[in-house]
Amino acid sequence: GAAPHDRDSSQCVRVAVNIRPLITPELLNGCTDCITVIPGEPQVQIGSHVFTYDYVYGNKGSPSSSIFDDCVAPLVEALFHGYNATVLAYGQTGSGKTYTMGTNYNGEESSGRIIPKVMEMIFRHVETMKDSTEFLIRVSFIEIFKEEVFDLLDSSSSISKGEGMSSAKTVGAARVPIQIRETVMGGITLAGVTEAEVRSKEEMSSYLLRGSLSRATGSTNMNSQSSRSHAIFTITVEQKKNLGESHNDVGDDILCSKLHLVDLAGSERAKRTGADGMRLKEGIHINKGLLALGNVISALGDDRKRKEGAHIPYRDSKLTRLLQDSLGGNSKTVMIACVSPADTNAEETLNTLKYANRAR
Ligand code: ADP
Ligand code: MG
Repeated sequence: GAAPHDRDSSQCVRVAVNIRPLITPELLNGCTDCITVIPGEPQVQIGSHVFTYDYVYGNKGSPSSSIFDDCVAPLVEALFHGYNATVLAYGQTGSGKTYTMGTNYNGEESSGRIIPKVMEMIFRHVETMKDSTEFLIRVSFIEIFKEEVFDLLDSSSSISKGEGMSSAKTVGAARVPIQIRETVMGGITLAGVTEAEVRSKEEMSSYLLRGSLSRATGSTNMNSQSSRSHAIFTITVEQKKNLGESHNDVGDDILCSKLHLVDLAGSERAKRTGADGMRLKEGIHINKGLLALGNVISALGDDRKRKEGAHIPYRDSKLTRLLQDSLGGNSKTVMIACVSPADTNAEETLNTLKYANRAR
């Protein structure tokens, strides 16, 4: 993408905008492109509005594979240095969140999507370092649906046994929500969540695929694949330097850090889904997480507030509570705001650009 805009080096949240191309149904409907990327600048124009971000990737700009190199690779690097990190994909349903993240990567073609590239980079690093360092890598995969946390890797859940598939209500009711706990050191843990140890990219992908298949989906007027839950794929890395025989038992130095890869719920307002009361209720809950996230990120980005030790409202939603130890402070965060360029989506695109603008 274009060069990052000059920012304070202490900046802990970076924001990228990713404009997907017009897709076939939009072209068939005669949609036109309503976003302009300012050449050589990380800026976009929509109508009379111009916004500046850290990076902009667009249909007229560079190939989107550089999203990984610019935004995500530094976080994986930081992970191996003991930092927690979070990648968030934000945007309306159909804007390309799942595509960009690769959340439903099936182990085959991946063409530059984030999660498959993260997996590759992690195991490449492990391979290079294996003589001097012992690694323990684990994954968990959860979703937040109607302000409840569910384990997508729980093999005892009713979904994988094939019960209760007839309605989303039954599926939701049969699953047992997971509690968020805070350790004395301020770390966040999920009580009883499945943490699968993995030793290869293939093994890691198999858990990603398993979890993405059990994600709760329901149909709305906007998109039958619409996702109204936040999906969080978390990679935990534990590493211990091999200091040789003589150092055994002496001050074992274990470094533990985690990377959250978050495919957020669609940001469109509930009324756009035009659905029944239940859908609207879900919409309201989802908006609660996205609203809280916007407030947290905006508070983190406000230098003055941070220096004055202002209150960061992590506790306002499950999403922000769960990410609390991986947003702000010593951790690295990237938000990728995904947008459609279609004129028919202009209103939601403008909302997304404003939300992302507030985040930085
Ligand atoms: P979301 O997860 O935000 O609802 P999706 O990732 O499912 O959106 O993308 C919606 C549609 O757009 C899908 O058909 C997807 O294949 C397509 N799409 C998204 N991003 C791109 C891209 N960069 N290039 C081509 N097609 C894309
Ligand atoms: Mg999606």
